[in-house]
Amino acid sequence: MLFRSVYIYTPMGLRVLNKIRSVIREEMNAIGGQEVLMPSLHPKQNWGQTGAWDSVDVLFKLDSRTGKEYALGQSHEEIVTPLAKEMIKSYKDLPLALYQIHWKFRDELRAKSGILRGREFEMKDMYSFHENQEDFERFYEEVKKAYLRAYDKIDLVAKVTEASGGGFSNKISYEFMVLTDAGEDDIYYCPSCEFCVNSEIAKQKVGDSCPKCNEGELLEARASEVGNVFDLGTKYSKDFEVFYVYADGSKQQPIMGCYGWGTTRTMGVIVEKSHDERGIIWPASVAPYQLVLVSLAGAEQQAQGLYDQLTKAGAEVLWDDRDESPGKKFADADLIGVPVRLVVSEKTGDKVEWKNRASDKTELLTAKQVLDKLSS
Ligand code: ATP
Ligand code: MG
Repeated sequence: MLFRSVYIYTPMGLRVLNKIRSVIREEMNAIGGQEVLMPSLHPKQNWGQTGAWDSVDVLFKLDSRTGKEYALGQSHEEIVTPLAKEMIKSYKDLPLALYQIHWKFRDELRAKSGILRGREFEMKDMYSFHENQEDFERFYEEVKKAYLRAYDKIDLVAKVTEASGGGFSNKISYEFMVLTDAGEDDIYYCPSCEFCVNSEIAKQKVGDSCPKCNEGELLEARASEVGNVFDLGTKYSKDFEVFYVYADGSKQQPIMGCYGWGTTRTMGVIVEKSHDERGIIWPASVAPYQLVLVSLAGAEQQAQGLYDQLTKAGAEVLWDDRDESPGKKFADADLIGVPVRLVVSEKTGDKVEWKNRASDKTELLTAKQVLDKLSS
């Protein structure tokens, strides 16, 4: 095979990824995140400073012919912390939240399930810096809410799941888990309240009564982690000697948090959750196009007029004007999963057939009715 475990986002897929990026970007901006773009090529010194050059097994390492060594970014604490050190001088510079939407490289032993686990994948990663624990906690909650708003916009239900804090923290972190058999995590959740815990760290087991509401009995499910939030404490502030001057003149080290969201994995999870035997059913908010316009033989003129009208009104229309059979065009429209299919043919006369991807019901509408329906 030409491409193994690496992926090309072709025009339709990239349009979906761009929409996912936009939804996340909007929510991160709304809570004060500032977008940056950090390098993928990381000098060895940065990774040496935290000890991760030797301890992180997924790190791809590169030799330059200049004799210098580099890592490909598998996460960006090692880059963002020295950047923050330049930006944070006084408590007045805090809080600071920087994020990017960018590619990560990890030498995963098992790259599997396509874009759900790749060696090269895209992530939204945000890093925040705070004066004290209290301000960190405030922001942590804001990010959790922003994540839930964003998942809601893309029609995913993500369970906020307690998990271990990772190697450098004994605090719990939270993972955002979408129930699907295509995932790699097992979670225990309460059917009566929102309690949910990753089975890897759980003190509980299936059937235990819920430690939160005491009402439900814990159930088990397979899930895919689409995002997570971590309390990093002062681990990186210490490693990179980041200090700021506090109001009373003393030198303090900022508390740091990090917030990941796998954008490419999310695209795969949406497909896992939303498809039928004919293909994908994209939620409208991330669909590559709003409409697919299928024109059949003899209706080219009418299709041209409708296409012009719709695009002029701002609709995103994919016009299937290929010289293919109706059956092939309908099957491809279903496969691609665009939310609405419009058909013009000799049979529809000067009207248009409207069908939602998720339903079998068709309606005959005028062009004006199509436009009205789109804007309603
Ligand atoms: P996992 O537990 O799935 O290995 P992780 O805990 O290592 O992920 P982070 O390093 O915090 O995850 O990355 C943030 C997000 O990036 C994850 O929640 C997930 O959505 C996504 N992600 C992580 N690894 C991959 C991968 N190899 N391929 C695609 N997406 C990934
Ligand atoms: Mg994880």
